[in-house]
Amino acid sequence: MKIEGNQKELDAMAEFHKGNRQEGLKLQEEFAAEFREEYKDKDHCPCQKACRYHGNCKECVAIHRAHQEHVPNCMRPILNQKIKLLSELTEHTIAKEIEPPHEVLRKEFQE
Ligand code: SF4
Repeated sequence: MKIEGNQKELDAMAEFHKGNRQEGLKLQEEFAAEFREEYKDKDHCPCQKACRYHGNCKECVAIHRAHQEHVPNCMRPILNQKIKLLSELTEHTIAKEIEPPHEVLRKEFQE
């Protein structure tokens, strides 16, 4: 089961945007039920960092809400998609002004 860009969730959002709240909620619950079943015993967290809170969304989100610096790792692609669009406004020259920080990854993701 694909989480990012899941078709059922995309359909749910389309229903919400059309004002069909009940249909949106129904599709959303179908997605959540599928997710619950599929990820009962499987890792759902795409974060590659060496972190003791891996997959523990409750504590991970609380930590990010508390320090207010950035969002949980799994949210990066969503925000980067939007930032990329905005970055086009300056022909991506912001790339010359920034550099991502070094991150400590889990062993399987280290080069
Ligand atoms: S909220 Fe944190 S723990 Fe949950 S999936 Fe995202 S990065 Fe992983």
